[in-house]
Amino acid sequence: MGEWNWAGNYEYGASRIAAPATVAELRELIASARTVRALGSRHSFNDLADTGDLLVSTAALPAMIRIDAEARTATVGGGVRYGDLARELEAAGWALHNLASLPHISVAGAIATSTHGSGDRNGTLATAVAGLSILTADGDVVDLRRGDEGFDGAVVSLGALGVVLEVTLDIRPTYTVRQRLFGGVPWEAVLDRFDEVTSAAYSVSLFTTWDEPTVSLGWIKELADAPSAVGDDFFGAPALTEARHMIATMDVRNTTEQLGVAGPWSERLAHFRFEFTPSNGAEIQSEYLVPRANAVAAIGAVRSLGALIAPVLQISEIRTAAADDLWLSSAYGTDVVGLHFTWLRDQEGVEAVLPALEDALLPLGARPHWGKLYLDPAGLVPHLYPRLDDFRALAERFDPAGRFRNPFLTRLLG
Ligand SMILES: Cc1cc2nc3c(=O)[nH]c(=O)nc-3n(C[C@H](O)[C@H](O)[C@H](O)COP(=O)(O)OP(=O)(O)OC[C@H]3O[C@@H](n4cnc5c(N)ncnc54)[C@H](O)[C@@H]3O)c2cc1C
Repeated sequence: MGEWNWAGNYEYGASRIAAPATVAELRELIASARTVRALGSRHSFNDLADTGDLLVSTAALPAMIRIDAEARTATVGGGVRYGDLARELEAAGWALHNLASLPHISVAGAIATSTHGSGDRNGTLATAVAGLSILTADGDVVDLRRGDEGFDGAVVSLGALGVVLEVTLDIRPTYTVRQRLFGGVPWEAVLDRFDEVTSAAYSVSLFTTWDEPTVSLGWIKELADAPSAVGDDFFGAPALTEARHMIATMDVRNTTEQLGVAGPWSERLAHFRFEFTPSNGAEIQSEYLVPRANAVAAIGAVRSLGALIAPVLQISEIRTAAADDLWLSSAYGTDVVGLHFTWLRDQEGVEAVLPALEDALLPLGARPHWGKLYLDPAGLVPHLYPRLDDFRALAERFDPAGRFRNPFLTRLLG
């Protein structure tokens, strides 16, 4: 078929891709399919979105954004991209609590995999979901609101329940953010004072190649109307006076404005600008979300593998997310620390180093990001989700014939 994901490391095996423009068309397409899956903006790196028969892209569905100021919510079409939503919210004086590193992803696709940004007190993007409308395999629309039975299982759905038509998100009044970068954070500070380091700002990310003498970049996002707790020195690392991309060879113009210039949340919380290519483009990503209590041990374990992973690594990011109650969230029941890897686009090379990485991290309870490349040959991942049986039952209730099932889900759910 020749249809690929955004990164170009995965070719979809579905026999057809359709882009319905109306819900009626979508319903008809679903009725015609043996197996079906929703496709968002294609930013996942594995076979999660794929199926044998029909992929329905959400890109041409109505890109509705409806703000309810009284309820402090925005209801959006599932295919709407965060970049479009952020601009519209900002223009109306509203904001989201956080964004991922890129604004190019669809809302429904991002929440389906518990996509997250950083910040000790910031839940994943899925935690902002207050309601969902889901078109199921038999053509019904199911509306769920926070607090409803099954809601906590339905938000991070991995696309298993049906096609999410609309998502209602919590919003808050707009705010401004400034971001600054610091060069060369000592490893001792990261390892000995981890909680202080990650709680120093609204959002803290650390960028490293693991085999270097210091963490090359501390990247912080502070609320502009609060005094800075950081000053010009971040645990011994000086504030940079020139803007930088986290991948030293990439063009800094792709990143959102730095150097402490305050600007709307919508233009600062993502690392990458909506108008430009995020990250590198020629890449593969993996990420493992470790319970916070095991973060320092996990960081130490990855450092000891630094020489092994360096040949296929572009950059890593260490970031945090707050605990939640969403059954398949990477942060279910525990604050987590994400150890993220932007690899070269070398599938074989990356798959050769993942076993050692997973041998080190999965026993520490690290949950792989659902949308990124992981291997888990021993099937350890299902055991990291205490509510997996409940999710399986929910998926069977929504989709008794298993038409939204795919090999990824079968590996997870049996
Ligand atoms: C450059 C880059 C940077 C990234 N940065 C981050 C980051 O900062 N933080 C992070 O956590 N992740 C990050 N990711 C990963 C990305 O956020 C996730 O893979 C996300 O799921 C992609 O959303 P998508 O719309 O492209 O979904 P797709 O890849 O198209 O699909 C992902 C899943 O969502 C399901 N889905 C999509 N739309 C719907 C719908 N309407 N109804 C039901 N199910 C649906 C699909 O069936 C599939 O299971 C990054 C990825 C890239 C390429």
